[in-house]
Amino acid sequence: MTTNRLPTTDPNHAHDVSLEGTFDFLNTDDLENGFPVDRLPTLDTALAWFVERGVIHYEGAERWRKQASASPSAGADELARIQRVRGALREVANSIAEERAPDPAALDIVNQALHARQVIELIPAWDGVNVDHRHVGDPIDDALARLADPLVRELTGGHPERIRICDNDRCRWVFYDTSRTGRRRWCSMATCGNQAKAARHRARAKAGDAGSAGVGQADDAGQPTQAAAN
Ligand SMILES: [Zn+2]
Repeated sequence: MTTNRLPTTDPNHAHDVSLEGTFDFLNTDDLENGFPVDRLPTLDTALAWFVERGVIHYEGAERWRKQASASPSAGADELARIQRVRGALREVANSIAEERAPDPAALDIVNQALHARQVIELIPAWDGVNVDHRHVGDPIDDALARLADPLVRELTGGHPERIRICDNDRCRWVFYDTSRTGRRRWCSMATCGNQAKAARHRARAKAGDAGSAGVGQADDAGQPTQAAAN
């Protein structure tokens, strides 16, 4: 068993993923104009994404690339597993956002992924004690566990009620609502929020509603102050 450490600005928190990073992972299963687009369509792109996000060591990714080129079916199985865990995590995030019970099968998959997480150990340092991470499983297991972890942390000590799904049916991104009111509906006001405003505006114009008070305005929390009647 080896002890590895990635270069990081904070050696005590090597490999830590933020909730944002977890959502970025979920949102790689994307919609483009309402059509599904997988941003991690191959094992190679998934490994590159993991390396870029610091959840897998370059050597671990290379090892998997070699294994996959030697056995394409093993590579395909591994990609399917990554996509399965991503889908299960997404279902768990959806259930939190929609305030309902998750699909038990999805919960099982996420729990399995969490069990593969790294072991944290104390190691001596010249000025005291450091925390290090010992890798016990396959590097992809490790990466998936790290990507699942922020959701658990948010549930235990955060604000899971601020986990949202974008209201735009052609987007459906998972996002964290940082607005003051906690009532944001869109992943971004600049894109989906404005699209929704523009759509309301078009609908209103089409209806020839010239006598109305005008387009529904949205406040800084992305909440329309006037109902979209059309
Ligand atoms: Zn959106």
